[in-house]
Amino acid sequence: MKKFKTESQKILNIMINSIYTNKEIFLRELISNASDAIDKLYFQSLTQNLGLNREDFAINVDYDPDQRTLSISDNGIGMSEEELDANLGVIAKSGSEDFKATNQGDDIDIIGQFGVGFYSGFMVADKIEVVTKKYGEEEAHLWRSVGAEGYEIKPAQRDSHGTTVTLYIKPNTEDERYDEYLEEYTLRDLIKRYSDYIRYPIKMKVTEYRYGEDVKDEDRTYQEVKTVNSMVPLWVKPKKDVTQEQYDEFYRATFHDGEAPLLTIHTSVEGKVDYKALLFVPAKAPYDYYSKEYEKGLKLYTSGVMISERLPDLLPDCFSFVKGLVDSDLPLNISRETIQHNYQLKAIADNIKSKIQKELLNLLKNDRAKYETFFKAFGLQLKYGVYADWGLNKEFLQDLILFESVKEGKQITFAEYVDAMAEGQTEIYYGVGKSALAVKSMPQSEALLAKGYDILVLSQDIDEFALRSMRSYRDHDFKSIAQELPQEEGETAHKDVLDGIKEVLGDKVSKVKASTALGSHAVCLTAGGEVSLEMERVLNAMPNAMGGVKAERVLSVNPDSAVFGKLCAYFGTDRPAFETLSQVLYDQAVLAAGLELEDPQGYVDRVTQLLSL
Ligand code: ADP
Ligand code: MG
Repeated sequence: MKKFKTESQKILNIMINSIYTNKEIFLRELISNASDAIDKLYFQSLTQNLGLNREDFAINVDYDPDQRTLSISDNGIGMSEEELDANLGVIAKSGSEDFKATNQGDDIDIIGQFGVGFYSGFMVADKIEVVTKKYGEEEAHLWRSVGAEGYEIKPAQRDSHGTTVTLYIKPNTEDERYDEYLEEYTLRDLIKRYSDYIRYPIKMKVTEYRYGEDVKDEDRTYQEVKTVNSMVPLWVKPKKDVTQEQYDEFYRATFHDGEAPLLTIHTSVEGKVDYKALLFVPAKAPYDYYSKEYEKGLKLYTSGVMISERLPDLLPDCFSFVKGLVDSDLPLNISRETIQHNYQLKAIADNIKSKIQKELLNLLKNDRAKYETFFKAFGLQLKYGVYADWGLNKEFLQDLILFESVKEGKQITFAEYVDAMAEGQTEIYYGVGKSALAVKSMPQSEALLAKGYDILVLSQDIDEFALRSMRSYRDHDFKSIAQELPQEEGETAHKDVLDGIKEVLGDKVSKVKASTALGSHAVCLTAGGEVSLEMERVLNAMPNAMGGVKAERVLSVNPDSAVFGKLCAYFGTDRPAFETLSQVLYDQAVLAAGLELEDPQGYVDRVTQLLSL
């Protein structure tokens, strides 16, 4: 007896003791595995001229209420002994990687999220046997498991290539009627519901009726093996014949998402290249979306055969969150390598890119709330898109971007900002801060807001880089409010005190100046040069940063503030008090700018010292 790998063990336990209400999905998982196995063999046949006939492929579903068995058979590629061990001894690689990466919080969610495939059989069966023979090999093998303890693999008999998965259905319990998975009606209904679009016939023994007056009563019903799925993929059907529920169901099953998609795009294009595409925008970002592990791409079918599970080239990075598939009439023997250099594929990818953009713009126009949900999940990616590739896509993406407006208290587009600009305003102002409140209370905001100018709130690391990459929107330049402080006044009047502060702070600041534009605030930190304080923080936080990026820090002091009066009083009379106060004021400006203190304990000690004076 072999043991399951650790993480598989966990999943298995969840499966076996499952309280998951959607147990019935096991059937679609096993049928989809059968279909994948046929796809693999058929693809091989096409590329290596094995001469197999598409018409000869089928999936058989058999049930035997007396033996309490349900089996799913295919004549696909099958598995060798090693593959059996590798594929069924551990959860499908994709599944287990995903599983390991999460915190395994909600057990139920795991099933919905990852569609743990083969193992879902254990939700309804207490024993599973798999007999399989790999195409082109002599020997067949049996894999058998009664659940969590482990599994065994033995030589077995099987006439031809393919796989049969036999489930030994659990006895009924008080809460659960497992018998239904041995009943024609339920099985037929489940296949119709979840697997109708499978492109190979799913055959099953069904009860048929004879009508007519001369039919004897005992001959009225008879049983016959029939194809129970329509075999027409959803995306091949005209849009009007597909309901949103069907799209949702297809999406959930195919892309292992517990939630229905936020947006469905079904398109059929005829022209330079003919293709059909079925695309979905998930309602939430997958947990690994913003990590290196996430892989973008669309499934690619040609003439009804899946030739790529996930082809990255079909999706631009800015829309990497889109899931879906493309079905085209590309040459059948196209190999995975030549896909990259295929001009038809390139044309399809370009088409898809603008289709997604158009649909998102429509969503923004027609369903603002839904768009905002979308933007919350994937806006970051769009903003990266603006900045990435030296701004190549900035114009393409700019109208999809939202930023919070200080004035409106909600998310707005650049177009909305520009349309609402005050008389005489030429630039688009933004402030970098954690929230609208933080930006609003920055010393520089007061004067701008008083003039009726709005300020966009940049709260994510990428934001300022994106805007700098755009430079302007409809000829209106972006301008950081941090660069907005009027030039120093009363320079001569307080020069000695200001120089004194600079001397205390040393290299921490490049300049100390007086500014009456601070309103009710005493101090304010701004950046003098090209690199803003925020950019300094972001750049230095990058994994390969050398810590070398330095913003030019300018400390502005309000000469009308009470504390400045105090500074002047200490200056020349109480040097230690002057130094302490200067340092505290600088640290406060750092905090107000939303940055971290270099020496928090020193700051606290100095404030305590001042409080004890
Ligand atoms: P997934 O289908 O997501 O890869 P599964 O748990 O459903 O995950 O299946 C695990 C693996 O077992 C598959 O990737 C495949 O290699 C293999 N497998 C499962 N069922 C079959 C089958 N009927 N024929 C051939 N291989 C299969
Ligand atoms: Mg599977």
